[in-house]
Amino acid sequence: MYRVLVTDKVQPEGLEMLKEKGFEVVVDLDAYKPEVLKERIKGFDVLIVRSRTKVTREVIESADKLKVIARAGSGLDNIDLEAAKEKGIKVVNAPDALKNAVAELVIAMMITVARRAHYSYRAMLDGKWEKVMGFEIAGKRLAIIGFGRIGREVAKKAKALGMSVIGYDVFDLSDLAKEIGVEFTQNLEEVIKDADFITLHVPLTPQTRNMINEELINKMKDGVIIINAARGEVMDYKALLEALKSGKVGGAALDVYPEEPPKSEWLRELVAHPNVFATAHIGAQTKEAQKRTSIEIAKRIMEALGV
Ligand code: NAD
Repeated sequence: MYRVLVTDKVQPEGLEMLKEKGFEVVVDLDAYKPEVLKERIKGFDVLIVRSRTKVTREVIESADKLKVIARAGSGLDNIDLEAAKEKGIKVVNAPDALKNAVAELVIAMMITVARRAHYSYRAMLDGKWEKVMGFEIAGKRLAIIGFGRIGREVAKKAKALGMSVIGYDVFDLSDLAKEIGVEFTQNLEEVIKDADFITLHVPLTPQTRNMINEELINKMKDGVIIINAARGEVMDYKALLEALKSGKVGGAALDVYPEEPPKSEWLRELVAHPNVFATAHIGAQTKEAQKRTSIEIAKRIMEALGV
């Protein structure tokens, strides 16, 4: 019988599927810290995590029976993939299950910042009646950096809302762009140059860390609105704060941060900036996405173990 340890909150549907197949499932939400997990992991064949648990090299090396690490979500940046590979441990995820949830949030974020709805709401809480002036997203140009599952889902929805859309990726995905009816480029400077909105959908890798930096911001259109629901580290947020202060960047909507929750003074200043709409990494937090993820991840675990 396979033993499964779950250290982050996962919806029950997939866990039930595993139990029905004879797996023993142990949920221990206190074991997410590497120093605890490296002891707790012993004797388990499968580890299920979301983004909170950091599956470090030390954790992987102290595991004695581990065969599969399952990320109930898409980004794998919290798992030491190299260490897993060295020990022959399979890593599975559920990338398709979340794309609609994240894409819907991105659309909501664009409209919120364009209409300055977050600002009006903040003022309302302070007892002020702020009839702010905004603009419409229809007819505006959207650049999508990272034309993967989520990026393409955003593209479809933005196009349906009347935006002119261009995708950018390290791979030539022009055929997929054509299918959706949007433009595509492999040139980063070209994708940002005329964009009214820029949304980030690359994974966090050594190549994407700080890829949106001061130099690139300076090449963007004045007053551009930037959305980041990928990972905080793909953008230099200190440069973003300066650009918001100078007015070079007109607004930003952020769901992810280099430090979660944001505690540093400068990061708190960024989050509190009047032209910033900030959420607490809720991109995948819908009942539908979490249910789909739980089921998909159970299937991937069974596949990986040949059950
Ligand atoms: P995906 O793998 O389908 O797409 C990522 C795309 O980025 C790929 O097309 C890839 O070729 C491209 N890419 C990789 N490196 C690049 C580079 N250096 N330059 C340009 N393009 C590059 O992944 P996805 O499912 O679309 O998810 C994207 C990211 O969104 C995840 O890795 C995760 O970090 C983040 N995410 C956030 C939330 C949230 O709650 N906010 C939820 C899910 C995913």
